[in-house]
Amino acid sequence: MLKLKNIQTFYGNIQVLKDLCMEVASGEIITLIGANGAGKSTTLMSITGIVPPQTGEILFLDKSIHMLSPDEIVALGISLVPEGRRIFPRLTVMENLDMGAFLRRDAAEVKKDVDHIFELFPILAERRHQHGGTLSGGEQQMLAISRALMARPRLLLLDEPSLGLGPMVVTLIFDIIRRINKEGGTTIFLVEQNAYMALKVAHRGYVIENGRITLEGTADSLLHNEDVKRAYLGI
Ligand code: ATP
Repeated sequence: MLKLKNIQTFYGNIQVLKDLCMEVASGEIITLIGANGAGKSTTLMSITGIVPPQTGEILFLDKSIHMLSPDEIVALGISLVPEGRRIFPRLTVMENLDMGAFLRRDAAEVKKDVDHIFELFPILAERRHQHGGTLSGGEQQMLAISRALMARPRLLLLDEPSLGLGPMVVTLIFDIIRRINKEGGTTIFLVEQNAYMALKVAHRGYVIENGRITLEGTADSLLHNEDVKRAYLGI
């Protein structure tokens, strides 16, 4: 579904991504794990056209997308849930969801998707008229994911969904990620510092260090890899 070929991305003259190659197959959950500043968010920003790569190629469903603008990339079916759950704080839960469906014209299907989201996250149904900014951190993360789902993406990019959340909410969020993939068939690209949870939910994973992919494999093989254990799992 998605191919990153020899991506090199810069901020000014500082190179952050160095010859990055990755592949995501349709129906997979893949995770990109790495330390602070390794280049995880930059990878997502390169895919979504926010910080386009200087060289290299990004293919989505066999179409080159690295020259497209962020809105064109969204329209093709790629949605990003950015780090720090940037929802619209002054809009209600319902209005935030409507914003996610902005490009859609199929009102009946949009209504169905709202019902499905309220089934996934019953707490959001209870709080549908509440302003986004008054929700708890976990609820805001649920809303951020839901808003992205309202665009009916084929590929959902999640940047550190567990950041700053308590263990119970983290477990809930990862359960939902699994359901979105399994029941909805949405392909998921998950960036995480919580390597253990990410590898537990993913099918395959990549490790990024200083802007380079240093390791890749099935999630299970990475969970049992001695270097991964030492560097990212603390065991
Ligand atoms: P974190 O988990 O801390 O978010 P990350 O792996 O997502 O880390 P990135 O945010 O992609 O890492 O950052 C990679 C490198 O690029 C870092 O050295 C960072 O300081 C640098 N960087 C990120 N954004 C910018 C920017 N707008 N301008 C200049 N340098 C940047």
